[in-house]
Amino acid sequence: MKDFIKKLWRGEETMEDLSLTIKKLKELLDNSDSVIIGAGAGLSTASGISYGGERFKKNFPDFIKKYNLTDMYSATFYPFPSPEARWAYLARHVYLNNLNMEATELYKNILKLVEDKDYFVITTNVDDQFFKSGFDPSKIYATQGSYRLFQCSVPCHDKLYDNEKIIKEMLDNTDEDLTIPSELIPKCPKCGNPMELNLRIDNTFVEDATWHEQNRAYYDFIDKSRDNKTLLLEFGIGFNTPTIIRLPFDAMNAKWTNWNLARFNLEHLEVAIEIDDRYHLFPIDGLNSYKIPNNFKERYLPFNEDINFVVNELLK
Ligand SMILES: [Zn+2]
Repeated sequence: MKDFIKKLWRGEETMEDLSLTIKKLKELLDNSDSVIIGAGAGLSTASGISYGGERFKKNFPDFIKKYNLTDMYSATFYPFPSPEARWAYLARHVYLNNLNMEATELYKNILKLVEDKDYFVITTNVDDQFFKSGFDPSKIYATQGSYRLFQCSVPCHDKLYDNEKIIKEMLDNTDEDLTIPSELIPKCPKCGNPMELNLRIDNTFVEDATWHEQNRAYYDFIDKSRDNKTLLLEFGIGFNTPTIIRLPFDAMNAKWTNWNLARFNLEHLEVAIEIDDRYHLFPIDGLNSYKIPNNFKERYLPFNEDINFVVNELLK
C-alpha cells in the first residue's frame, strides 16, 4: 500500500522529489518564527511504541492465550470478565507503554529540530513521550489525557492522581488467573466510586486546571503566530479523531499564507479544505490538478516516508 501511494504521487524520480521536499522543510525550519507540532498515534508507532505485532505478542502471551486478544489498542476495550481481570490487563498496558517506557530516540530527535525555536505541541497521544523527552511542559497540550493519571469515573471532582505506585502494585500482585486482588481496584477518595484512567473515551473525561491552562496556551500561541512565518509539523494523525489537530491544521494553513504545513502520514496525505462553506477532500494523487485557494499546494509538504528517516535527514 505504502509503495503504491508513493509511486502515484511522488512520480518516477521518487528519491529526487523526496530530497527536494526535505530540503524545503529544512529551510522552513530554519526560517520560521513559530513551529506548531501536532502528533497522533502514528508518531509513537514510528518511535517503536507499537500496539500490535511482535511487541504485543512478546509482552502479553498469557492474555492473548486466555482472551484471544489481537492488539493492545482493541484490548483496552475488551469486555474482561471482572474489574479485577480488566485492571490486570490495564496495569501491564500502562506500565509497558508509559510508566516503564523511557523517552524514545524519535521524540528526542524531534526536540532537537525545534528546541531553539518558539514552538508549541498539541498531541492526542497518552504515553507522555513529549514530556519524557524533554519538551517544555508549558508548551505541551495533551488533549486526550495520560495513562499515568487516574480520575474519578463519575466524575465527582476534577482532580487527577498519579497512578504509578498503584499500577506497580497491581503488576506485582497479578495472580495466575490474570486478576488482581479486589482491594487494589482504585477507588475515588471523595465518593468511593471506581477510578479510571484519564483518557478521553466519553464525556466523563476530566479536564483539570492544567488541561485548561494548556488549552488556553495553545490557542494563545496560534493567535500570536497568525501573522508570523509559522510551520505546522504534523506527525502520524489519521482519521480517528481528525477534528482535534488534522482538520484545523489544514484550515489554518489554508487561511494564513505565511504558514506552511508538513504532513507525515504513511497512508493519508489528502487535504481537507473548506471552499464556499463546503468541505472538499483533495486526494494527494494528482493534487496539482485541483485549484486550491491561497497557494495552499505550494505551502504543503507531504511525506509518506518513515518519520525517523526524514527527521534524521533534517538533523544532518
Ligand atoms: Zn468520585
